[in-house]
Amino acid sequence: MHETPTDPNETMRDAPRVPAQPWTPPEMRRDAALPFTIGNALGIGWRAMCERYGLLLGASALYLLLFLGGKIAAFITSLFTLLPLVDWAATFLFYPIILLGLLDIGYRCARREQATASDLFRPFGRYWPVVGASAIASIAIALVVWIPAGLVGMVFLVLAVSGTGQSGAFALTAALFTMALILGLLLVLVPRLMFAPMVCLDTEYRVSGPWESVKLSWVMTRRPGVRPRLAALLVLGWLLGVACVLLLLLPVLFLALPLGATVFGACYWQISGAYWTAREHCCRVCEYDLRDAKSDRCPECGAPVAPEQLGYTGLGPMRDDGRESGGALGASGLPSA
Ligand SMILES: [Zn+2]
Repeated sequence: MHETPTDPNETMRDAPRVPAQPWTPPEMRRDAALPFTIGNALGIGWRAMCERYGLLLGASALYLLLFLGGKIAAFITSLFTLLPLVDWAATFLFYPIILLGLLDIGYRCARREQATASDLFRPFGRYWPVVGASAIASIAIALVVWIPAGLVGMVFLVLAVSGTGQSGAFALTAALFTMALILGLLLVLVPRLMFAPMVCLDTEYRVSGPWESVKLSWVMTRRPGVRPRLAALLVLGWLLGVACVLLLLLPVLFLALPLGATVFGACYWQISGAYWTAREHCCRVCEYDLRDAKSDRCPECGAPVAPEQLGYTGLGPMRDDGRESGGALGASGLPSA
């Protein structure tokens, strides 16, 4: 634990960019010492589900009730108005928000924190930023996935119409290729952006808005190995979801939603924990470990050391000209920048 004169949470909330005191990452995340692996994520998720099954089941039931209730209501109104606007609006403005509430409960169960089923509605306390972060991530995913998929589909269509390939084998190949392309693009992009609404909701480090949340999700998942493992967990989750739907939905309630929420929570905990820990003493650009750095620039890529990192990297506070003014390395002499 670092000794700072002020409450680190206060410092971060008031001045997230350049706090006057050495920057301290959220305390709880320091406990996320386990590295992010598929085994750790599944293990923590399973443990959390077993420990808090009643809570997770209740929250999942509430979520499913609202989701299915909304779908049925939209279906009934669409019979009369032929305008399923309610359903369309809820797809962006309601369902993702309560789903985030469920994931947040899973996150807190993974961390063994206090939570109740009514926390499903906690994201409404920060509604518009969360909707914004969710919308930016969804639109980015949709554009990157559907534009290439649409182009490829059109090429196949042109080929089919022009008579080059009218056989069944050609149609099958075209369909499989397009599906593989969509799946591949999803698995590249979804792991990088999936934490954006969660980052936005996170009370330990409140970022200023939706756009910053999306950027932070992107940055914290770029570490080596993170994206492939998240992609593998996503595939597992989708397979579990499909299996549950085929088994008449009941396992969605009793298994897929509770376990999905806690595994998501475990992933977010470990990935954001590693990110914040690295932020203490690693280069913001290339993640080079700066603790033995002798200058206020990264020896690896030359990027300047962030002012709030100086207390963690062994360098003293900077003078106006950007050089070290004292501290642990003071007398040893700095190499010129
Ligand atoms: Zn660097």
